[in-house]
Amino acid sequence: MERNALKSHLKNMLGPDKVLTEDLDLLYYSYDSSFLTKLQMVSPDVVVLPRSTEDVQKVMQFAFEHRIPVTPRGAGTGETGGSAPLSGGIVLDLSAWDEIVEVDAANMQVTVRPGVIHSDLNDHLAAYNMFFPPDPGSSKMCTIGGMVANNASGLRAVKYGCTEQYVLGLEVVLPDGRVITTGGMKSKAIKNVSGLNLTKLFVGSEGVLGVITRIRLRCFPKPKSRGIVMAVFDNLDDAPATVLEVYREGILPSGIEILDSSAIRAVNAFKPHINLPDAEAILLFEVDGNPPSVEWEGTTIVKIAEKRARQVEWSTEPKRMAALWEGRSVTAAAAARVRPDGSRIFAGEDIAVPLSGVAEALRRIRALGEKHGIQVVNYGHIGDGNVHTAPVIDPENPAEVEKVMELVHDIHLLAIELQGTTTGEHGVGAVRREYARLEHGPAVDVMQSIKKALDPYNIMNPGKLF
Ligand SMILES: Cc1cc2nc3c(=O)[nH]c(=O)nc-3n(C[C@H](O)[C@H](O)[C@H](O)COP(=O)(O)OP(=O)(O)OC[C@H]3O[C@@H](n4cnc5c(N)ncnc54)[C@H](O)[C@@H]3O)c2cc1C
Repeated sequence: MERNALKSHLKNMLGPDKVLTEDLDLLYYSYDSSFLTKLQMVSPDVVVLPRSTEDVQKVMQFAFEHRIPVTPRGAGTGETGGSAPLSGGIVLDLSAWDEIVEVDAANMQVTVRPGVIHSDLNDHLAAYNMFFPPDPGSSKMCTIGGMVANNASGLRAVKYGCTEQYVLGLEVVLPDGRVITTGGMKSKAIKNVSGLNLTKLFVGSEGVLGVITRIRLRCFPKPKSRGIVMAVFDNLDDAPATVLEVYREGILPSGIEILDSSAIRAVNAFKPHINLPDAEAILLFEVDGNPPSVEWEGTTIVKIAEKRARQVEWSTEPKRMAALWEGRSVTAAAAARVRPDGSRIFAGEDIAVPLSGVAEALRRIRALGEKHGIQVVNYGHIGDGNVHTAPVIDPENPAEVEKVMELVHDIHLLAIELQGTTTGEHGVGAVRREYARLEHGPAVDVMQSIKKALDPYNIMNPGKLF
């Protein structure tokens, strides 16, 4: 359909205040936080700001009839080009539809519209002494709809898991405009094994199967106490060995983070007052729960860590905990400053490998950086093997861009070689789809059959996942 005709059809259908058509507005929707979309920016033809399921339904029925691509978008913090409209068409910006529909404290659950920001939800739930545990670094920006679509997680995933563990049910508008409720039409049950698990199908579907318009989430009671252990190692292999021994002792910390020597140097250069010890690796363990169990877990981790670490410290005092954690909390920003003329790019940033492969992954990524002549900073959620790599380049220099793309490709292949995955939390989007068959083999055919059954004209977020 011709662009101007599309714009006026949508304005007539939804009212002019829900439709953006100016070039400058559209430009904002041509990229997300990935490096790829900084290289190839494609603006949508039009942006719609829905405020109801009926709005979304009308748009999808119209798009289905006229075969127009539709890209759902939350806050655009994704790192994979997932919410970028690579084929033009309509962007559905769900970020302003941010209603907390119901806090059902009696049943430890909450129902929200997709645009609610993660940290706003947890601020709201705090009054009920409840929380939604997944905790992405983008918590103050990303939407719950985007988290569900990407099955997001973060620091606490090692103990609390990913978003999927908390989604009890969804309302979804399908590509042809049908509206379904997964997890039971009226169900408020926490457990439900009735029927095929369509909730799990839509969690992590990255906007290619339908538009998520309502989300019912399970909440957990907020732990009363927490503590932090910091351990400093001269030998990289001692870090995963210590983590394993902590598990074997029956302790599951709520976070286990690693900074390798590249991250330690970056943090100290960025914020000298943090003054992290110069070492091959630093581990940070966070434990939470009731005060006696936190005390026992923290002091037991100290005993285990002391067998291999050069220096160990433990605290439950809020100021000291914040100081111990500060190095980790500035790592991403520090990575961006290791080269005055460079920028940290989000590409190849999210592999996950088994715990037994973390040290090898870190060493080989370092060697790959040297081979391609690209500086890299490594850190991550070692508890679940999720390694974050920050390549730093001059993005205006085509030769460096070419080299970094080769590096990123090698990092993705390394992840698969080490029995891991190209993405532990950020998803596939447009940037990792070439690895789908290598990772999943014939299972990709089944994924494509499901996609075709729900979206026969491939209008939902085309160019992503497969
Ligand atoms: C600084 C920073 C730190 C980050 N840290 C983490 C982290 O620790 N852990 C982590 O997992 N991720 C992290 N991310 C990545 C990102 O924040 C998450 O993937 C987040 O879930 C994306 O949410 P969003 O609202 O920005 O979604 P968007 O980026 O707008 O969209 C993401 C995908 O979801 C689809 N989508 C969005 N809303 C809907 C909907 N309602 N229905 C259907 N599909 C939809 C889009 O089409 C797209 O494919 C980080 C990003 C940044 C910039």
